[in-house]
Amino acid sequence: MAIIIDGKKTSADIKEELRVETEAFIKETGVTPGLAVVIVGSDPASQVYVRNKCLACEKVGFYSEKYEMPEDTTEDALVELIEKLNTDDKIHGILVQLPLPRHIDVEKVLLTIKPSKDVDAFHPYNTGKIMQGKYDFLPCTPAGVMELLKRYNVEIKGKDCVVIGRSDIVGKPMAMLLLQADGTVTICHSRTKDLAEKCKNADIIVAAVGRANFVSGDMVKEGAVVIDVGINRLENGSLCGDVNYAEAAEKASAITPVPGGVGPMTIAMLMKNTLTAAKKTIK
Ligand code: NAD
Repeated sequence: MAIIIDGKKTSADIKEELRVETEAFIKETGVTPGLAVVIVGSDPASQVYVRNKCLACEKVGFYSEKYEMPEDTTEDALVELIEKLNTDDKIHGILVQLPLPRHIDVEKVLLTIKPSKDVDAFHPYNTGKIMQGKYDFLPCTPAGVMELLKRYNVEIKGKDCVVIGRSDIVGKPMAMLLLQADGTVTICHSRTKDLAEKCKNADIIVAAVGRANFVSGDMVKEGAVVIDVGINRLENGSLCGDVNYAEAAEKASAITPVPGGVGPMTIAMLMKNTLTAAKKTIK
């Protein structure tokens, strides 16, 4: 039976480590790391994410500010707020919760965030740095996956890795990080032929598709490590990932559950990025 990769516990461990590190940092420098979280509109899932992010700030000892803007906020008003936060010394990290309402150009908004405060690592400057392997921040979800692999001693070097999904925020950076860790990476997407065959040969599968039960047990090689990034809400209201967990767990050597796998790691990595941003201002 597979080892269950426990993201909930790992995330709690990381937040405790960050709390200790933050306490020492504040003592040494007098600077409290600060995160500004901006939400536009009232999407219920986004509201939960934002609340959890602010709670995590409290837990690790950061200062946080929450900006709740109405659905009909103009792009100019949002840009103006970000520009103000860019020059605010109390704020080291700025997070704009996505998705934004359709009338707002996401690209323009993300470009406005000062790269040194871009703790989501979505600014092209930071994505470019990731390509070069010279980054200050990693996007939180792929970073969370890498941290889980590290803490569960999963070797990546020389392994065949399949990433399913090629989004800018998960699939692409995920593939890049596995490549930088010396994995041999195949990126699969909606136009990939023989996807099941590719998965069957993988030592590590990372699924980031957004479709329940997309990865079935027969797509998993005996002993493979299966990481499920997907978050899908079923008709009965419960959450599930992209992997058929019961089937895959029969074959895998290690697997992440949903919920309780990659999800909680994302916030822990956001906290880590914010502390890094604060430390950079001292250097
Ligand atoms: P996205 O919709 O931007 O990208 C999905 C990707 O899946 C696309 O690149 C597409 O090519 C691929 N895809 C779609 N249908 C496919 C098919 N039939 N075969 C192969 N590939 C296919 O989504 P995203 O933002 O990358 O998120 C992916 C999933 O991860 C979603 O369920 C999302 O909720 C979840 N997610 C979780 C976290 C977390 O913290 N755990 C963070 C971000 C996203």
